[in-house]
Amino acid sequence: MKTLLKNGILVSGKGTRTADILLADGVISKIGSDLTDASAEEMDVSGKYIYPGFIDAHTHMGLHVAGTVTADDFTTGTAAALAGGTTMIIDFGTQYHGESLAQGLNNWHAMAGGENSCDYSFHMSISEWTPSVKNEVADMIEAGITTFKLYMTYPAMMLDDGEIYEVLKTLKEAGTFAGVHCENAALIDALIRENKAGGFLTPAAHPASRPDTMEAEAVHRLMVIAGEAKAPVMAVHTTNEKALNEIIAARKAGVNAFAETCPQYLFLDRSLYELPDFEGARYVCAPPLRTKKDQEVLWKAVKAGVIDTVSTDHCSFTLKQKELGRNDFTKIPGGLPGVETRGNLIFSEGVGKGRISPACACRILSENPARLYGLYPKKGVLAEGSDADITVIDPEKEKLLTKDGQVTNVDYNPYEGMKLKGAVEKVFLRGDLCVEDGKLIRRGLGRFIKRGLPDYRHEEGLA
Ligand SMILES: [Zn+2]
Repeated sequence: MKTLLKNGILVSGKGTRTADILLADGVISKIGSDLTDASAEEMDVSGKYIYPGFIDAHTHMGLHVAGTVTADDFTTGTAAALAGGTTMIIDFGTQYHGESLAQGLNNWHAMAGGENSCDYSFHMSISEWTPSVKNEVADMIEAGITTFKLYMTYPAMMLDDGEIYEVLKTLKEAGTFAGVHCENAALIDALIRENKAGGFLTPAAHPASRPDTMEAEAVHRLMVIAGEAKAPVMAVHTTNEKALNEIIAARKAGVNAFAETCPQYLFLDRSLYELPDFEGARYVCAPPLRTKKDQEVLWKAVKAGVIDTVSTDHCSFTLKQKELGRNDFTKIPGGLPGVETRGNLIFSEGVGKGRISPACACRILSENPARLYGLYPKKGVLAEGSDADITVIDPEKEKLLTKDGQVTNVDYNPYEGMKLKGAVEKVFLRGDLCVEDGKLIRRGLGRFIKRGLPDYRHEEGLA
């Protein structure tokens, strides 16, 4: 099957150009002017932005947390992703205590073994660091699981500073790195105890127990550890100015540090936790939402290339599941849906409102995750030979964000009522048209993708 997209505005990480693009046999077979092919279905996409399919490098599908399991599994989650222009997700396989990395990976392959609508891979979360786990790092890379995740908080998952040092050093020698959840676990526990003892049990106590300083301190510590290990590292879901400043300072000191943020930290703020009727629970995630000032700082950092990727940390729960913490904010399952809305939000509110360029959106949504996570140039770029993963955005298309009709398996939308201008119109997954006029028309074509080693380049100062 061949498709010829005529006169689109092709977007790369460096800029835009108008051209035709021919999709054949699952890949981009030709890019140029005045292309013709009698055997191809021709589509006029003039005035539309043609992006390499978006990659969401931070999702949690089918994850067991807080005595429940996320509302989206791989089947619904990958369909939601595709509907929103994301042609690949990278989820987190997890080694739980007592397991080998291989067991963790097998568990996640089994979990993702049903219908997938976009392509997928996993990072591997290491929760126990032993000599035999160290030996498994090479096996994981061989299996196409080339990046890792570490936690500085959550008792079931966290490693201590010395272990983090050893992991980062080992990964560096293997040619790769880890993303790290940065929060100060012990101090957060103390703040939680203090809030509970004071009778503060509502969602408003959640951000009070996890202040920005707790994140910034952990980011600082991580940067010190990475500096000593002379190893690259990524701070995932960076939420605030203080944490970001730690990353900037570490880079100046020579640490090869990468930064990720998420739409919820760009668009939502902590006042939402004060909403009446337990509504604040729907915004509970860790780290929590911050201030409007932090949002501004994050946007500037995205524009300047200080932040490398915008992923979602999609970890969805229904309102009923959120009720588990009705009388105790620490029992609210933490996480927000986001995999379906990320591309539309970033395009409309980022590119459409002039906060970032079309090329910057390409870098944070496609190119940088592809490079950092060993997918480039198979994905993340419009180039001859690359997978024909294409997201077509109509800059004039209006879209209302609402829970009604969303593909995500959740009964609320954190951005309910937001009116977007500029939205996903078509999505091709390896050449197959799966979204038309913003509607998911084809499911089930997603595959597991083996990834290569990362490319650590960090570029600032691009427009
Ligand atoms: Zn996460």
